[in-house]
Amino acid sequence: MRQKIVAGNWKMNKTLQETEELIKALQSSYTTSNTEVIIAPTYVNLYRSQELLNSSKIKVAAQNMHFESTGAFTGEISAEMLQSIGVETVILGHSERRDVFFETDEIIAKKVRKALDQNMRVIFCFGEQLEERKSNAHFEVVSSQLKSVLSALSETDWDNVVLAYEPVWAIGTGETASPEQAQEMHKHVRNEISAMSSEAVASQISILYGGSVKPANAAGLFSKEDIDGGLIGGASLKADDFLAIVDAAE
Ligand code: PEP
Repeated sequence: MRQKIVAGNWKMNKTLQETEELIKALQSSYTTSNTEVIIAPTYVNLYRSQELLNSSKIKVAAQNMHFESTGAFTGEISAEMLQSIGVETVILGHSERRDVFFETDEIIAKKVRKALDQNMRVIFCFGEQLEERKSNAHFEVVSSQLKSVLSALSETDWDNVVLAYEPVWAIGTGETASPEQAQEMHKHVRNEISAMSSEAVASQISILYGGSVKPANAAGLFSKEDIDGGLIGGASLKADDFLAIVDAAE
């Protein structure tokens, strides 16, 4: 059985006080399930989030990190820093990092390598732009993103990788890939992983869907064979909506 995961990417939202309120609201309504639940607050609030969730099943992830350990990299944080406060999961390759902060496949590959060398778990994001889908290049684009970053991984590295297919045209737009469109791509991704590693890795790896997932569309998406949960942006900022999505993954 593949692990179902629902992860909330809070992006640049929530002050310290708002973070505390949302975590408390999540804790008061969350009942343990088989689905792994993760939240990714902003860096400033990671330490406090870890403190609040210390004895909870809800895990804390970072939204990004640098590939170096220390040094003159103003504004950046390292894997070692995250681990020093107990954060063991990091989202890498998010489309906003690629598009707004110009992260290339090469940079993302270095970050993934660093996280895995540190024994951290990576939620690796990828997905096509609208024009790429319209021109029917979406499978090719996704294959290239996967190969550029993941082709050199060892058998054991794969244990610490979660994939998140996020078509860029569906992120924060209210437009969602249909369950059929998402399933078609997830199956393609699983085939690519099988070719890059092994059948065993491909059948075990969790592949999340992200892009305007809401309580109303989550169950349809998560019912598909190759969709193992979701990476949730906007709807993760409200406890009731996020927990309804977690329930939909059961
Ligand atoms: C995301 O940013 O990863 C995301 C999926 O955002 P949203 O759910 O708001 O589309």
